[in-house]
Amino acid sequence: MAFNNRTKVKEILASAEVGKSIVVKGWVRTKRSNKNVTFIALNDGSVISNFQIVADPSQISEEILKKVTTGACISAEGVLAASQGAGQSVELLAKSIEILGEADPEKYPLQPKKHSLEFLREIGHLRMRTNTFGAVFRVRHALAFAVHKYFNEKGFLYMNTPIITGSDAEGAGEMFHVTTLDLNKVPKTAEGQVDYKQDFFEKEANLTVSGQLEGELAAMALAEIYTFGPTFRAENSNTTRHLAEFWMIEPEMAFYDLEDNMNLAEDFMKYVIRYALDHCAEDLDFLDKRAAEEEQNKKADQRSEMGLIERLKFVVDNEFVRLTYTEAIDILRNSQPNKKKKFAYPVEGWGTDLQSEHERYLVEKHFKKPVILTDYPKEIKAFYMRQNDDGKTVRAMDILFPGIGEIVGGSQREERLDKLTARMKEMHVEEENLWWYLETRKFGSAPHSGFGLGFERLNLFVSGMTNIRDVIPFPRTPGSAEF
Ligand code: ATP
Ligand code: MN
Repeated sequence: MAFNNRTKVKEILASAEVGKSIVVKGWVRTKRSNKNVTFIALNDGSVISNFQIVADPSQISEEILKKVTTGACISAEGVLAASQGAGQSVELLAKSIEILGEADPEKYPLQPKKHSLEFLREIGHLRMRTNTFGAVFRVRHALAFAVHKYFNEKGFLYMNTPIITGSDAEGAGEMFHVTTLDLNKVPKTAEGQVDYKQDFFEKEANLTVSGQLEGELAAMALAEIYTFGPTFRAENSNTTRHLAEFWMIEPEMAFYDLEDNMNLAEDFMKYVIRYALDHCAEDLDFLDKRAAEEEQNKKADQRSEMGLIERLKFVVDNEFVRLTYTEAIDILRNSQPNKKKKFAYPVEGWGTDLQSEHERYLVEKHFKKPVILTDYPKEIKAFYMRQNDDGKTVRAMDILFPGIGEIVGGSQREERLDKLTARMKEMHVEEENLWWYLETRKFGSAPHSGFGLGFERLNLFVSGMTNIRDVIPFPRTPGSAEF
């Protein structure tokens, strides 16, 4: 049942019923006129294709047609006719056109020409009206839907973990404070510290960097859960892969060891990418061509060997390579770019954290496949990861993707209370703040695992866009929180 009288362009193109009377509503992309007829290209957001409306000046007044300009919103009523032009099966012969919202052509910022992505970021309130961003956000929707569909089919429960947290436990990044204190008159304790007792929560509070710890609590009761929510990191990293506000998907599973965890993560990634391939063909075709044009602007040796759709199919059809951090370090140490000092961060010894350039070398040059790295040195990973018997490494797993680097970070969690508290002491994580987390290890503990997928990094990969600011509707980055 439709809730109003308009027919979506997507439905019109799917059924193409010549002779049917319909109403379409949307935004004018372009208008072309000659003495006898006016052609209007309309986009209503339901599909990337514009829909052609043919207006006969003997039927539609000049006064109305004058207001049909790029950016205006119109409603058009008429009859579907077989289209003369190529590319589209039907068009609308307009009987009447109503102007819902004018757009002064002198002032409308989006002209029917190619605008730079930088310029479009400045007009984030309008950029969704372009082909590129329409495609990106339809794909984003499909991926979000696929995430829920996948976990629902697997019997996982969708859990909402808190956005405001009282624990700075994860240490995953700098946090944003949440306070109602007057910053001009901050109350102080006798020792001269901020007196959080007088703040809203009567303690220090922050925006969450991850839902994992609470997700684990849920897994220790409901067995298989996932979160899908916003996370915040005040890290001042102005890269093309970091946002201050991003969405993360974090499954947590009781009774999964690292192997099970990797199997789930790989299956899940392939499922959501396949879903996009199956349900976003037109948008991905468009984005594929777009990415190919961008590639032409790169130096020959920087161009990727595969087109976008080819790359997506490749990931879906091939097994991810699995190896340990230690094996990866050996490969990197002996690699050409390391020997020729091409890495900005040379790989010297065991124990250093991998930079994005190293991750991308492994994925794009060495294996030419997505890679899962496991068993990282405990020093560069969080306190909650399960310790291996070697005393040096933990049961971590990061998934590395071409063009992105790390897309998933996960681990088997430390379920043994003594091991966990010992590691917390070494890393100066205060037990007091995490008493509730530790209780899951005191009462009915179980082996369990989980991972975090950055939703925008997934969107970067699937859309072929290259800056994370262009796959979230309204990006928040250092110095920028417009719209
Ligand atoms: P990186 O080393 O790339 O900063 P991380 O090790 O901080 O990542 P985790 O804490 O493991 O990342 O977070 C899990 C996932 O969340 C990452 O694999 C990535 O996909 C995503 N992610 C992390 N930080 C950001 C960010 N600032 N913006 C967008 N996505 C992010
Ligand atoms: Mn980080």
